[in-house]
Amino acid sequence: MKIHEYQAKELFKEAGVAVPGGVATQSVEEAVKAAEEMKKNGTELFVVKAQIHAGGRGKGRTKKNNAKGVILCRSIDEVRKAAESLLGDVLVTIQTGEEGQKVKTIYVTDGVDIEKEFYLGILLDRAVSKNVIMVSTEGGVEIEKVAEETPEKIIKEWVEPGMDLAPNQARRLAFALGFEGDAFKKAVKFIMALYNFYVEKDADMVEINPLVLTPDGDVLALDAKVTFDGNATYRHKELLELRDESEENPIELEASKFGLNYIKLDGNVGCMVNGAGLAMATMDIIKLSGGEPANFLDVGGGANVETVKNGFRIILEDENVKAILINIFGGIVRCDRVANGVIEAIKDPEIAKKVENVPIIVRLQGTNAEEAKEIIDNSDLNVISAVLLKEAAEEVSKVIAA
Ligand code: ADP
Ligand code: MG
Repeated sequence: MKIHEYQAKELFKEAGVAVPGGVATQSVEEAVKAAEEMKKNGTELFVVKAQIHAGGRGKGRTKKNNAKGVILCRSIDEVRKAAESLLGDVLVTIQTGEEGQKVKTIYVTDGVDIEKEFYLGILLDRAVSKNVIMVSTEGGVEIEKVAEETPEKIIKEWVEPGMDLAPNQARRLAFALGFEGDAFKKAVKFIMALYNFYVEKDADMVEINPLVLTPDGDVLALDAKVTFDGNATYRHKELLELRDESEENPIELEASKFGLNYIKLDGNVGCMVNGAGLAMATMDIIKLSGGEPANFLDVGGGANVETVKNGFRIILEDENVKAILINIFGGIVRCDRVANGVIEAIKDPEIAKKVENVPIIVRLQGTNAEEAKEIIDNSDLNVISAVLLKEAAEEVSKVIAA
């Protein structure tokens, strides 16, 4: 689950992670009022930042007003103009795709003098099953580029499962970034507090780009990208309130309400599978047979009529879908029950209309697979049965070529 920069910074503040001051708002008047308050407290430079769930805002541009997503302002009047140019417009960045993302909220924040920009990221390193903290002196630029061209400029510390980040690890990271004196202590404190935040809140990624050193020796997070582990949010009810559904893909959002694990992709063959591993393999099969998967969809263990129906509804909302491959392993669920479920689901008038021109290939393997095949073959519906994965792939090739 993603959250906005301003929300991440509010959580950082509570966790003792240093951030500049700022106010999030959805109106121009409130933005101006916030800037006036900040000015009373000595702020001379303001930065108005579009709040969308995507990075690259600084280099992005809005569609209508051609405004940058991060705007430096030297006066209240400039803050007003920046707010006017961003609110309601659509910001396109390297991460949003061409369609962009509507700006509903802006963050008016203290402009910070930057002595140096750094990168800091924390995530799970799946290759070694440990959390990793990565830092680089090459902050402010795309870290992917650094990783590709000069990987030696990314310094990493791994934390043993069940252990805390050790102070000497945080010191090593701060040292690698070249911090000295008071700033060194602040950097160590920053890293320790951020790692604790990551663990306590079940985040699965925290990325600060840039982390900055100011001329006064302060160490601050100027940007904040945080995502939480969706499987752990039940432990953090307060975080669920931060979810901004309008930023999410509408079909994915609906699927999550049905308890389906769905990710939209760009292809033409929809797939419905039980188990994430089988879903990945099925997507490979589709590709090998000349198609492109339209989605990832794991319906979970108990593929009953309701789940299959919901799966169909979700897959068919994508207009690119030209065929559907159902690949279910009957281990816990019996294949004949799944087959009946599939048929019942297709008879649902709403679904029946939509699948008229969408061939459905069903492969059921496992308990009672033969009965299941018979049920599918004896139905008078537009459903093709397959036993082997290879057959399923060939059927996919045929229907795509047709
Ligand atoms: P994004 O990564 O989406 O482009 P950032 O928050 O990283 O957005 O902002 C882009 C750039 O704008 C930063 O690299 C930094 O140079 C500048 N910037 C952002 N916030 C501030 C701030 N509060 N004060 C000064 N400069 C800032
Ligand atoms: Mg950034």
